[in-house]
Amino acid sequence: MIREELLTQNIDKLFEEEGIIANIERYAINDGNGVRTTVFTKGCYLRCKWCSNPETQLFDPEMSFFPDKCIACKNCERLCPYRAIGDDLMADREICKECSTMEHPFACTDKCYANCRKITGEKMTVKEVYDIVKRDVPFYEASGGGVTLSGGEPMAQPQFTYALLRTLTERWINTGIETCGYADREDYAKVVPYLDTIFMDIKHIDSKKHRLWTGQGNEKVLENVKLVDKMAGIYGNKFFIRIPVIPGFNDRVEEIEKTARFVAAECKNITGMELLPYHKLGRGKYYSLGRTYPLEDLKAPSAEHMEELNGLLAKYNIPIYKF
Ligand code: SF4
Ligand code: SF4
Ligand code: SF4
Repeated sequence: MIREELLTQNIDKLFEEEGIIANIERYAINDGNGVRTTVFTKGCYLRCKWCSNPETQLFDPEMSFFPDKCIACKNCERLCPYRAIGDDLMADREICKECSTMEHPFACTDKCYANCRKITGEKMTVKEVYDIVKRDVPFYEASGGGVTLSGGEPMAQPQFTYALLRTLTERWINTGIETCGYADREDYAKVVPYLDTIFMDIKHIDSKKHRLWTGQGNEKVLENVKLVDKMAGIYGNKFFIRIPVIPGFNDRVEEIEKTARFVAAECKNITGMELLPYHKLGRGKYYSLGRTYPLEDLKAPSAEHMEELNGLLAKYNIPIYKF
C-alpha cells in the first residue's frame, strides 16, 4: 500500500523511489494515444495462462536464454559459479531460481556478446526512468503521446507507480496505465488523479472461472472497476475496459454479453471497451525462461467471431475501440 508520507513528498523524494523494471520500450503505438514510451514493471499477482509477458510475472530478476542467437562461445558455462549450465547450454532452472540472492548473481550474462542470455528485471529509481522517458518529449508533443505503465502489474509496485505518475504529471507529460485491476483499492484511489488514460481488464465475469485461469477470483477486480469508473467521472480520465478474448476461457457469446451487461450497468464514465484477440506472440519467452507454454494447441479467435463479439458491445451502446 502507498505510504501516507509519500503523498506530500517533494520531487527530490519522489525521484528516489525505487521500482523493479522489466523493460522500457520507446516509440510504442498500441498503448494509448500518439507515440508512447511504455515502462514495463516487473511482478504481478495473477498468473494468466495466456500471459504474453511471462518474464514480468515474478518480482525477482530472471535470466532468459534465446538459443537461436547463440554463437556457442560457452562463456556463460564457464562463468556460472553454480555449475548450472550443461553442455547443451541449457540451464538448470532449479539452481537459477535462487540466483538473484546469491553472491554472484547472473554471472552467466556478463560476457554474452551475442546478447542472447540476459537478465530481465533491474532496480531503477523514478529519476532514472524519468531521465530515459523525457528524451521523447518532442515526440509526445508532436503526436499527443506520452508514457504508459504496463507490466507485469504496475499497481503491484504502487509506491513506485505513484511516484513516477506524479513526477510525469507535474511535468506535463501525458500518462497512461494498463492494469489487470487486481491490486489494493486504496492505491487506485491515489493514482487515478495522476492518470490521463486507464486500461483495465475484466478477464471473466465469473469468479470461479477467473480463478481457474488466472489464479485469483475477480471480486477485487470488479470492485476496482467500479471505483475507477466513479473517479473517472470526477477526474475526467479516459477509461477503457479491455477483455482479452481467450478461446475456451471467455470467448462464448453469453460470457462476453454478461461482461458487457455488467459494464453497461455499472460503468457510467467509461470511454469505451476493447476486445483483444488471443495471440501466441509470447510463446518464445516461455522457452527462454525454461518454462513450457501452457496453451500450445490453442488457436486465435477468427475475425468473424471477433466481429460477432464486438456486436454484443454495440448492442449495449458501448463504444468500441481498437488501439
Ligand atoms: S542464472 Fe545464475 S545460476 Fe543460472 S546459469 Fe546464470 S549464473 Fe548460473
Ligand atoms: S555466452 Fe551467450 S553466446 Fe556464448 S554460449 Fe552462452 S549464451 Fe551463447
Ligand atoms: S495480469 Fe497481465 S502480466 Fe499478470 S499474468 Fe495476467 S497477462 Fe500476465
